[in-house]
Formats: sequence, structure tokens, C-alpha cells
Amino acid sequence: MKAGEVTPERAREFARSWSVYRRETRNPLWMSPEELAGLQERNLRRQLELAARFSPYYRELFRRERVEVDKVQSLGDLERIPVTPLEAYLRNPLAFLLAVDPPGELDATYEITYTSGTSTGTPAPFFNTTYDMYNITLAMRRTAEICWMTPRDTLLNLFPYGNLPHIGFQRTVHLASSVGMRLVNALTGRDAPGFPLHRTLDEALELAAGHRATVLAGMGRQVRRFILRGEQAGADLSSVRVILSLGETVTEGMREEMRAHLTGEAARAFVVNGYGFTEFQGSFVECCESGGDHNPAPDLYHLEVLDPRTLRPLPEGELGLLALTHLDRRGTVLLRYLVGDLAALERGACPHCGRVGERLVIRMGSTYAVRADKVIRVDGRLVNPEAVRNQLAAVRGVVEYQLVVEKERPGDPLSPDRLTLRLSVAGRLRQDLEKEVVARVREAVGITPHIEYVQSPEIYDPSRILKATRIVDRR
Ligand SMILES: [Zn+2]
Repeated sequence: MKAGEVTPERAREFARSWSVYRRETRNPLWMSPEELAGLQERNLRRQLELAARFSPYYRELFRRERVEVDKVQSLGDLERIPVTPLEAYLRNPLAFLLAVDPPGELDATYEITYTSGTSTGTPAPFFNTTYDMYNITLAMRRTAEICWMTPRDTLLNLFPYGNLPHIGFQRTVHLASSVGMRLVNALTGRDAPGFPLHRTLDEALELAAGHRATVLAGMGRQVRRFILRGEQAGADLSSVRVILSLGETVTEGMREEMRAHLTGEAARAFVVNGYGFTEFQGSFVECCESGGDHNPAPDLYHLEVLDPRTLRPLPEGELGLLALTHLDRRGTVLLRYLVGDLAALERGACPHCGRVGERLVIRMGSTYAVRADKVIRVDGRLVNPEAVRNQLAAVRGVVEYQLVVEKERPGDPLSPDRLTLRLSVAGRLRQDLEKEVVARVREAVGITPHIEYVQSPEIYDPSRILKATRIVDRR
């Protein structure tokens, strides 16, 4: 789906034409903004009441900080509650689990998924009750609706089947099940000793071809590798029409590249770039390419974007720290939780499909969200190094690369910054490659880099260091 192809009429018509979507008569995404705000505020008040009574962490926080919970009546009053740092949750995840007493029929602990534990190491458990699972499954059905999936689709789940339950694999199961489409789990990943379960890329390709998969779902890089290998191996992926490419920045160029390596209907596939994390129990997804990433469950999750210095809410569209507030959960509950990512969001009806609730919007090159500790600032612009890496991984001839940020006039604090891309190249003419590289980096980060050619050991000398240094900040 390209932005120009999606209109509110078309999206509504699509949602009405499938009984599986029609049956959710109170889908918050199709409410009026006022109706949605009313629902969110009712949910918020009940959530705060539950947190004040049954959450060890918030009971203590409200007491210590003298938070008067009954004064928080609307989303606008949320500032009365202090933010919850990521570290507080990782340090003691059990303190965020509601101990509802006496437990009701839907209060049993049903499932645990784990955070990916990227920057801090240890993955933290996140608890879902039965009530949460039903809500999540509904949210996954809305996710499928936003991405134009139908009960006639066949989904190939490429997410790794790993040692810890992770939302990538788990939620994809619910995505397909909630709609009633066919689901094929590829079980990618590595076998644990004595458990010969996992499939290779080629076996997954065989499954995709054999089942005539119409939807591929996986991590960005993994899906890309799958498609490239498929072309090489001559696997028939021509039925693919939706590619759910999650977790990493997918630029326009990468979407085109995926299509270029597919044939038939698949050469026109809709490449969805989603962004998800465990505490959100799903993914933000696009209704059209680069058109914004929808929150599929604004009744369950409220988002704020905060100024990184003051932690005050920023106006719509501005880039800042993403904070998540659970509105209707019974297992792990987090309020104004700092996810650790930078993002920008808009509220109100989507200009493309007309659905309401938050949408993350692109403010850094092609990136919806990035870990705050990973970005670098170049002349006031935020650069996501991961987006550069993804872009350069696709360029033939690039052996090693390194980004260097420095002052144009060294020693002068007022000097503008300069971004230099140091490249080592093999098997391709420099002038051919340079144009492509400059264009790709510009697309990823919005800055035109200077190019400098070097020999690989200047960036990465395996005899001296274990890993290449990808970013050097000389300011
Ligand atoms: Zn939309």
C-alpha cells in the first residue's frame, strides 16, 4: 500500500467487508476522537485504582511522592504521576505485577514474555493474565486489519523460536489466529543441545513456497535475507502480498529492494515497517508505507513523548523520549514508563486511513523509533547509526565502514559538524558505489556525508580489536 492508495473510505470499506473485523463493534480505532478519549479516561481511572491497591511498586511510589491518584481524572492529569525509569522495572519486575485480591475468573497468570534486554543485559519477565491475553488478541486482530490482512491469507512466521518466550514469535501466532488465517511457524533460530527443532533458511523457504505464503513476518534484516536467499535458491515466493518487517528501520530503498527480488504479485508487495517492544505486547504498524505507525490498542496503551531534559510532555510531532502508560492491564502494569527510545507521535485521525489513536511519525531519516543511547546528534539532527548499518548492508562492494563526526573547524565550539563516512571497498568501482552510498545514507539519516576511502584495517583490525568501531565522535 502506497500512501496515495489509502483513503479513510477505502480502509473503512475493507474493515466492513470482513465479518471477522465487523464483529468488533466497539473498535476504539474507529471511534470518534471524543469517544476514544472517554474510553481511555475511564480505563485510566480504573487502572490507577488497581495500581494504588495491588501494585507493590506504585503503592509505595504514590505514598512516597504523595500522589493523589483520585486527582488524575484525565490523560492530561498524568503529569501528576512521576515517570517510571526503565531501570526500576528491570531491577524488580515482580514489583510491577498486580496482586489482585481476591482474583477473578480472568486474573490467572496466563503467559510470560521477556524483554529483549538490549542495553542493560538481563531480560525481564512481563506477565499477562487471561484478561490481558484476550485484550492482546483483540489488539492483534486490529493490527492485521490495519495492514490489510484477511482470513484468506497464509502467514509465515519467521520470528526466532528462542530460549525465552518473546513477543515476536508469540504475538505473530495471535495475529494469525485472531483473524483465522492459515499460520505456518518456520521455527527459525538455533537448536538447544539435544533439541533438533529449528529449521534452516532453506527449509523455511520450502515451507513458504509449499504453503503459498501470502504474508511474511519477521525482523527486518531476517526478512530481507530470506527474500534474497529465496531468489538465489529459486524458491517461489510470488504469492507474497504483505511483508511485516519489524524491529528495525526499513527505508524506502530497502522496501524497493525487497520487491525487486520478488516476482509476480510479490513484486508489488506492501512492506510494513513496524515497531514493537515487550511492554507494548505487540507492534505499531503502518496502514501505508511510511504513513505513520498506528497504536492498534489506544484503549490499552497511552503514549507520551517527553522532553529528554525536563521530562515534560512535548507538543505533537516533536521528537523525544517515548513514555508508555498501561490503561487496562491486570498482569504487569507500568505507568509513564520510559521505554528508552526516542520517537515522535501524532494524535487524531490518520490522514491516510482515518483511524484514531496515536501514530508514531518519522522524524529521523526513515526511522520511527530508536534507542536513546544509540543516537548521535549531528548539527542538531539526530542520526540513527542502525539505519546507516541497514542501508550499507545492502550495498555490494562495501567491505567496512565507519562514521566520523567532527567539527568542520576543530577547536571552534561554534563550528558546524561534519559527518564523514569512511569506506573500504572491494570488487566495485568507487565512483559507481559512491553515488549509491551517499543516496542511501541521506535517505537513512537526512544528512549528506563526506566520503573518505580507507583500507579495512584502518577501521577494523582483527589482530587488535574484536569489533569494528562504527562511530567515532571527535567533537
Ligand atoms: Zn492510517
